[in-house]
Amino acid sequence: MKRVDVANCPCCGSGESLLVIERSPERIGRFLLLSQKKYGGFMDGWEADLSLEVHRCISCGHLWFRQQPDQQSLFAMYAHGQRLKGRPAATQPSGAMVSQMTALQRLVRARSSETSLLDFGSGSGRWARAAVQAGFDVAAYEPAPERSSACDDIQWFSSLPEIGDRTFNILNLEQVLEHVPDPVGLMRRIRTHATPETILRISVPDVARHAGDLAADFPFDGERMHILSPFEHLSGFCQVSFLKMLERSGLAPMSVGETAICCPSYSLKRLMAGVGLPWGRTAVLARYKCTQWN
Ligand SMILES: [Zn+2]
Repeated sequence: MKRVDVANCPCCGSGESLLVIERSPERIGRFLLLSQKKYGGFMDGWEADLSLEVHRCISCGHLWFRQQPDQQSLFAMYAHGQRLKGRPAATQPSGAMVSQMTALQRLVRARSSETSLLDFGSGSGRWARAAVQAGFDVAAYEPAPERSSACDDIQWFSSLPEIGDRTFNILNLEQVLEHVPDPVGLMRRIRTHATPETILRISVPDVARHAGDLAADFPFDGERMHILSPFEHLSGFCQVSFLKMLERSGLAPMSVGETAICCPSYSLKRLMAGVGLPWGRTAVLARYKCTQWN
C-alpha cells in the first residue's frame, strides 16, 4: 500500500485545519476489528503507515483523512469488502429512486428530445436501473468491476477513456465524492462529458446527520459502518464544504424556480435546506457555469 498525503482541504483548498479525531491504541484496535469483520483482514498493517487521524478544515468545516491509501489499494480493499450482517445488498431500485429519476426525466424532456444519462461510480447499478425504468438511455461507469452487475439495458464502462468524448444530458453522482481524494479535480475532469445544458445530480452523505459524537464510535462500533469509516470514505461533507466544492469545480446549483415544476420534491428539500432544516443539504442539481466553459 502506497500512502497519499492530502494536506489541503479537498473542498476549499485551505491549508489550515484542526486535528479533530486523534490516533489512540483503542482506535487502532477498532480499526483492526473493522479490517477483520468487513475486509477479511485486508487492511491489517495499514495502521503502521497511516495515522487514521481526521482533520477538520478551519475555513469550510470539511472533514478528511490527510493520510490515505493510494487508489490501487482502495480498489483492492473494496474487492475484499463483505456485508457486515443482514440480507444481501439490494440490486433493484427502490420506488423512491425511480421517482427521483422520473422527475429528472421530466426536467430533461422540457429542454431536449434526447435523454441520456451517465451514472458515474455506479456500484451495483441501482440508480442506473432506476434511470432505465424512468426512460433514460443509460451508461454506467464503475471502476471497481466487482461492484458492477450485468443489465442488458445499461452500457457499462470500467475506465473513463472508454467513454471517449461522449456527452450526456444527465451526469449522476450518487455517494461518489466521499470516496475520492480530490473531488474538485474529479468534477473538473468529467466536465468533458457535459455540455452547458447538462444537469448534474450530486449527492453525498451529510456528516451533520451522524447520530451522536463523531469521535466516540470512530472508526468502528463493531456492527455498523461509521460515516467516516477508514478508508471506505475519505471525506465527510457538510453543507458549507459541499457548496464550496461545487463552486471550486465550476458548478452552480439550479434555482428552485428552474426545478419547481418538474422536480417539486427536490425543490422543497432545497427550500428546507436553505432555512437550515436537515434535509437535502448535501444533494443538488447543478450545471457547469457557462462563464468557465471553453
Ligand atoms: Zn475547506
